[in-house]
Amino acid sequence: MNASVLVINCGSSSIKYALVPSEPDQPRLAGLAERLGSGDARLKGIDSRGDAFTQALGEADHTHALAAILDRLEGNRPSAVGHRIVHGGERFTRAALIDDDVVAAIERTSALAPLHNPANLAGLAATRRLFPDLPQVAVFDTAFHQSLPERAYRYALPEPLYRDHGIRRYGFHGTSHAYVSRRAEALSGLEGGAWLTAHLGNGCSTCAVWRGRSLDTSMGLTPLEGVAMGTRSGDVDPGLHAHLARQLGWSLERIDEVLNRDSGLLGLSGLTNDMRELEAAEATGHAGATLAIEVFCYRIAKSLAALSCALPRLDGLVFTGGIGENSARVREKVVLLLPHFGLQLNRTVNGETIRGREGRIDAGGRHLWVIPTDEEGQIATETRQRLDEANA
Ligand code: AMP
Repeated sequence: MNASVLVINCGSSSIKYALVPSEPDQPRLAGLAERLGSGDARLKGIDSRGDAFTQALGEADHTHALAAILDRLEGNRPSAVGHRIVHGGERFTRAALIDDDVVAAIERTSALAPLHNPANLAGLAATRRLFPDLPQVAVFDTAFHQSLPERAYRYALPEPLYRDHGIRRYGFHGTSHAYVSRRAEALSGLEGGAWLTAHLGNGCSTCAVWRGRSLDTSMGLTPLEGVAMGTRSGDVDPGLHAHLARQLGWSLERIDEVLNRDSGLLGLSGLTNDMRELEAAEATGHAGATLAIEVFCYRIAKSLAALSCALPRLDGLVFTGGIGENSARVREKVVLLLPHFGLQLNRTVNGETIRGREGRIDAGGRHLWVIPTDEEGQIATETRQRLDEANA
């Protein structure tokens, strides 16, 4: 299939969209409808001239917002819709052509992603109503990690928790890890190689990829496991929940809220979850910002070292996500914490030349890459591939 794909990412009160043309260098119409259902909804985006626009949507819900998005496509009719779906459980090992059976299966995995899957499903239902004749494909954040071997995806917990309740490690950000690892292979000529990838944005995760397959990743049953993130704690002692409940009398809801929304860079610094602000504060001697960056980088390096156990060798390391793409400081600190990996950073390229673009930042030896992620492009690619197979 060789035509535009409308990529939709529905949250509980927002819809991100992008019309992805088949040619990679053509411009994309893209935007974000937010505050849906609040009475003060709005649509922000970029039009075909590259100009930014904002449109008030008032009382709009998901369906109204999608209709407004359709108007903003300037007559460019997509030939398919690709939906980002957070959790595909064990059933979905790759993208799926949407029908009632697939919708029911996504509904059944909602217990594993109670905040995300119902919102994704609301968007999916609205899109099916608006475009009844367009093929729609679900692309799952978890699917790339379904290749994890059992030793990596099982928790050391009683077996019935896995068998009867699906409690295991699933991993997330699969679309991003898939995209940047494939791109690194294509750019480096090291096809079928052994890569570590670090997606460092507001959410952060690491992944070990061998011959194009994810062999381990830092996120688990939920996106809270693993490295420290913008507002999420990442790994803590599993005894912490009981301790906070018994000693401080905290409810489960409060503990969940603190670990997801008040922790990570924000909690450590007492200042912000924004790495740009933290770097500026660190430069003025702010102790909390300095500590937050130290912990953040150390945890990433530790996670990458642990994930290297999944690989038979190491060919290279890829940085992506808002921080991975833009923060020379974080990249340098992480690489310096991994001397035994034999990585040599080209400090000039890392610090001055690369500036968020795609490129190699090592000074020889094992590869170090900065690759801006393209989850929308990857969702469009997987949507096309799935439809081509269905039509073959
Ligand atoms: P994302 O969730 O991928 O959009 O990434 C958001 C994170 O990227 C935030 O912590 C931003 O502060 C960080 N970020 C974006 N641009 C820069 C930059 N130039 N330098 C450092 N961090 C950045």
